[in-house]
Amino acid sequence: MSQFLPLLVTDIHRTIRDAVVLTLQPEDPQAFAFKQGQYLTFKQDFDGTELRRNYSICAGLDDGVLQVGIKRVDGGAFSTFANEVLKVGDTLHAMPPQGTFSVGLEPDRARNYLGFAGGSGITP
Ligand SMILES: Cc1cc2nc3c(=O)[nH]c(=O)nc-3n(C[C@H](O)[C@H](O)[C@H](O)COP(=O)(O)OP(=O)(O)OC[C@H]3O[C@@H](n4cnc5c(N)ncnc54)[C@H](O)[C@@H]3O)c2cc1C
Repeated sequence: MSQFLPLLVTDIHRTIRDAVVLTLQPEDPQAFAFKQGQYLTFKQDFDGTELRRNYSICAGLDDGVLQVGIKRVDGGAFSTFANEVLKVGDTLHAMPPQGTFSVGLEPDRARNYLGFAGGSGITP
């Protein structure tokens, strides 16, 4: 069964128009240790309907914080909620980090990478 854990919203930073970066403090920091390229799945109740949405972790491994960036989509339930309703001090619920779209960090074995990206992605 999916496990959702509480995350306290400790900061909401408005970056560009219609986008926020949320800083989140997990009750269980161990459960939210992440690797580069991973994302969080949040669940939120909207008038009795549970929605689940994914957001990429946009903090670096050495930043010491857990952050996601959320761009408001016109008519979008979760992204509008995050941009317009969510407040510092609120609690969100998310599954531990998921995703395997990354390469391992091996400082001793530097290589050159060529990256291709598509879509309207907000998160590097
Ligand atoms: C792995 C992954 C990582 C992601 N990372 C990020 C990220 O870092 N940052 C980010 O901003 N997004 C990210 N996304 C996208 C994000 O998960 C959401 O899809 C996005 O925020 C929209 O969700 P929403 O609930 O706001 O919109 P929704 O409520 O899902 O609506 C989306 C659109 O559909 C329309 N719509 C909704 N219901 C209907 C209907 N019944 N009929 C017709 N139209 C309808 C809405 O008007 C809106 O335009 C990621 C997605 C994935 C899969």
